[in-house]
Amino acid sequence: MSRAYNFSAGPAALPESVLRRAQEEMLEWHGAGASIVELSHRGPEFMQVAVEAEADLRALVGVPDDYAVLFVGGGATTQQALLPLNFAAAGQAADYVVTGHWGRTAIRQAAPYADLRIAASGEIDGFHSIPAREAWRLSEDAAYVHITANETIHGVEFRDVPDVGDVPLFADFSSSIASEPIDVTRYGAIYAGAQKNLGPVGIGVAIIRRDLLERVGQPRADIFDYRLQLANGSMLNTPPSWNWYMLGLTVKWMLAEGGVAEFARRSAAKSTLLYESIDGSGGFYRNQVDSAARSRMNVPFFLHDDALDQPFLEEARAAGLISLKGHRVLGGMRASIYNAMPLEGVQALAQFMREFQQRHG
Ligand SMILES: *Cc1c(COP(=O)(O)O)cnc(C)c1O
Repeated sequence: MSRAYNFSAGPAALPESVLRRAQEEMLEWHGAGASIVELSHRGPEFMQVAVEAEADLRALVGVPDDYAVLFVGGGATTQQALLPLNFAAAGQAADYVVTGHWGRTAIRQAAPYADLRIAASGEIDGFHSIPAREAWRLSEDAAYVHITANETIHGVEFRDVPDVGDVPLFADFSSSIASEPIDVTRYGAIYAGAQKNLGPVGIGVAIIRRDLLERVGQPRADIFDYRLQLANGSMLNTPPSWNWYMLGLTVKWMLAEGGVAEFARRSAAKSTLLYESIDGSGGFYRNQVDSAARSRMNVPFFLHDDALDQPFLEEARAAGLISLKGHRVLGGMRASIYNAMPLEGVQALAQFMREFQQRHG
């Protein structure tokens, strides 16, 4: 068996050691007589998995005690709808800063439940930069300000935390959580689907400042209520226990590799190498994102002639480099280089890109 370097944007590559560990524990988990996914989520075995996953995630991301950690189903998109339901009064203003596709999605999910205001948008320049903070039009009465920390499709990433005063800042960290140290206290809420940087699809995390959970929000079913979810240990109903377990293994792997400071170093090395390969190609490859806002996780790029897209993908696959096709919204190519992608994978891609240009340039 030979595993390729997998540049998929999500579901994305998992560390091989995590997959092997899960394989070893597939039939029987730690002498339990069954796999973890065949046992009650309320039994002592799964409780251990759940408690460790939370403790490890808190240690990895640096989550203070006055923040709750929830393990959530429904992906990041569902959280985008739950934010106004839990934290905005009906018709209350909520400010959104749109820096790409996922910011727009967040607006569509929240629109039925709040008075959505676009405080700033990068759309006018094709989402190639982040609108300057001075140009944002924030509402004083807003329930929160929402940003997308890393735009997975457009390859645009906030490189610092915007100051939004006393209004809580909510951030979609789906594709960059645990890739560098962050100051959680600058945020009211952080949420992420797991399938980019934290584990498999089917689970996500929401990190919420506890005082915000006292907000009344709007009428909603129990299952959509973060406060009730917290009171029930994220198990108001049967949680996705296999995904939770896999997330726990992935977080343990990140801690063992050196934690977020180490992944920040690796991400800088990987993304710098890739952007240099693109910028140094004399226009054969191009990425138009402002260098100050370029994502360290997702690198979209275009070949100078889109007739070369198909040969590029086919020859890359033959070279053991897969999932480089860009998102249908943008076309072109995209290399997602999350924590599980080793530097060697990006070196192999950079070398392939040079050779491809020699053959076709
Ligand atoms: C992938 C992604 C989403 C959507 O996640 P789902 O789990 O499919 O709902 C939302 N925001 C960002 C930034 C993403 O990368």
